[in-house]
Amino acid sequence: MSDYRIETKCVQGGYTPGNGEPRQIPIVQSTTFKYDTGEDMGKLFDLEASGYFYTRLQNPTNDYVAAKIAALEGGTAAMLTSSGQAANFFAMFNLASCGDHMVASSSIYGGTFNLISVTMAKMGIETTFVSPDCTDEELNAAFRPNTRLVFGETIANPALTVLDIEQFARAAHAHGVPLIIDNTFATPVNCRPFEWGADIVTHSTTKYMDGHGVGVGGAIVDSGKFDWMAYADKFPGLCTPDDSYHGITYAEKFGNAGAFITKCTAQLMRDFGSIQSPQNAFYLNLGLESLHVRMARHCENGQAVAEYLRQHPKVASVSYCGLPGDKYHERAKKYLPNGSCGVVSFELKGGREAASVFMNSLRLAAIETHVADARTCCLNPASTTHRQMSEEQLKAAGIPAGLVRMSCGLESADDLIADIAQALEKV
Ligand SMILES: *Cc1c(COP(=O)(O)O)cnc(C)c1O
Repeated sequence: MSDYRIETKCVQGGYTPGNGEPRQIPIVQSTTFKYDTGEDMGKLFDLEASGYFYTRLQNPTNDYVAAKIAALEGGTAAMLTSSGQAANFFAMFNLASCGDHMVASSSIYGGTFNLISVTMAKMGIETTFVSPDCTDEELNAAFRPNTRLVFGETIANPALTVLDIEQFARAAHAHGVPLIIDNTFATPVNCRPFEWGADIVTHSTTKYMDGHGVGVGGAIVDSGKFDWMAYADKFPGLCTPDDSYHGITYAEKFGNAGAFITKCTAQLMRDFGSIQSPQNAFYLNLGLESLHVRMARHCENGQAVAEYLRQHPKVASVSYCGLPGDKYHERAKKYLPNGSCGVVSFELKGGREAASVFMNSLRLAAIETHVADARTCCLNPASTTHRQMSEEQLKAAGIPAGLVRMSCGLESADDLIADIAQALEKV
């Protein structure tokens, strides 16, 4: 499969049926697996043999889909989680524990910001946030001797900033730690962060990978490139024996290609149990089969809507890296040459009131806390996700009251623009 192009991997990656086996991925709807002898099963518990014994740890349906996502990203191993939140938490907590430190881009998903700045801080893991547009000096100054990882998003949700992945990878590697990239908005169809130096990739599969608003899910992919043993003092969890697994040293036993995901499964999935259901993994795979076809259309619609909005007199500004002149247009040309995503944000001149009238007047685009669906949806952060903030606080957070985030779906661009035009007339 690794020689095929990404379109082929979307359709056929991860699962190759044998003679007389199901053409479509079977849903193994079973919590457990049967063995003839206790000794057979014992070997699985010791990680001495590979096989299935309990779906909280592994399930064949999930493994097929994880293998497809690994193939799409060009990684060596992957796992599914119950949500994007679980994927990001596991990816970070697999490397950092109490007393450790992380460096993260300040322009990231609100849920991830909260996870890092509140919940992981309570666990004793501190984070220094840096601007996605920081200089090398500012970035390097954020590191400490106990820094264990760097985190950022290819295209940030909702700010739509584009990360300089090579710059962040260079700094991470100079300090002997991996770069984790949340690649949810770009998807591997439009950007493969491993090709730019990232070491671990995460996804909220809830978004474009699923693409139909069907199931919440997440994924973690390892590039297999980070040399854990070269920095064994920083990563004792990977480089010293795990007493909870009979003294296995993951980096020795599974090598760079498998250590990260094996430890993440054997320890974190075992203990926290945020597994994706096999049924949801099946739906996710249906989404992945058409991901390459859908992304192109999401981007076309995003571009058309962004261009229309930019010339509209009632629109103060538009953020979309596909627009020439956008702050991230040049960076996007390098990292996202085939397009970015379908999410466009724009500010209406009339503020919160105008945004409210505009959104209530839309007929096709629905008001939803969601993005990356086949159906166009939109949100005014000031009156929903950020409604507790005052005008001053909104300004400080870079979220103008009249900001609308619109996720362009797969409908006709002409119909979407006509809908936007009639709603803007009411403003
Ligand atoms: C939605 C989202 C998440 C969280 O994913 P869930 O599946 O909702 O838990 C994480 N990162 C990004 C970039 C997202 O858009």
